[in-house]
Amino acid sequence: MMTFHVVTLFPEMVEQYVRESILGRALSDKKISVQYYNPRDFSIDARKRVDDIPYGGGPGMVMQADPILRAVAKARGRSKKKKFKIFIFSPSGEKFTNIHADTYILKYTDIILICGRYEGIDARVREILQADELSIGNYVLTGGEIPAMVIIDAVSRRIPGVLGDDLSVENRRIASHDVYTRPAKFLYAEKEYSVPEVLLSGDHKKIDAWRKDHS
Ligand code: SAH
Repeated sequence: MMTFHVVTLFPEMVEQYVRESILGRALSDKKISVQYYNPRDFSIDARKRVDDIPYGGGPGMVMQADPILRAVAKARGRSKKKKFKIFIFSPSGEKFTNIHADTYILKYTDIILICGRYEGIDARVREILQADELSIGNYVLTGGEIPAMVIIDAVSRRIPGVLGDDLSVENRRIASHDVYTRPAKFLYAEKEYSVPEVLLSGDHKKIDAWRKDHS
């Protein structure tokens, strides 16, 4: 079982996504577990503050180190003898790929995902936790919650048994070919769109070859 610990100011966003469909089933099958830690719950400030203005000036707010570090301590405390990895999301981090996903499954039992908001997280958090910075692509989002969903999703579906047995081949592939389902002939705006003949042939050698060509 892989446990994801998500440190986020908006746990409901991630929770909603994870409990549906295949991930929802992976949760109930205990293939994965997802725990949430809201830095606000760990703020020792009287007004439950979690951000402040940036040193050196500039726009926006920066997430403070202390509430995040307390949240991470709680996440780590939950399980002993586990293999933890800590990631902080940042658009300038290392680009996440399926290769990372496969490595995580082999190496770790617990992944802590720290989601930034606003202008990001006080850089000392990364230093103190020796965390790796992870990016999901060359664009800037408003927060780390979508990246957390991306990592949970991409990693979970590569855990054996999360997709059905018949899907295990696809499970290992990176590129995907075009897919079709019923009906075989589909009428749209007076034009007929057919499924490639080879897919209806039942000839699995030919089908495999076609799929290779179309991925
Ligand atoms: N000025 C900041 C922008 C922070 S965006 C900067 O350049 O770093 C706010 C938060 O969203 C980040 O702290 C990070 O957690 C998350 N985020 C935004 N884009 C992301 C991306 N492409 N990959 C991973 N996390 C991202």
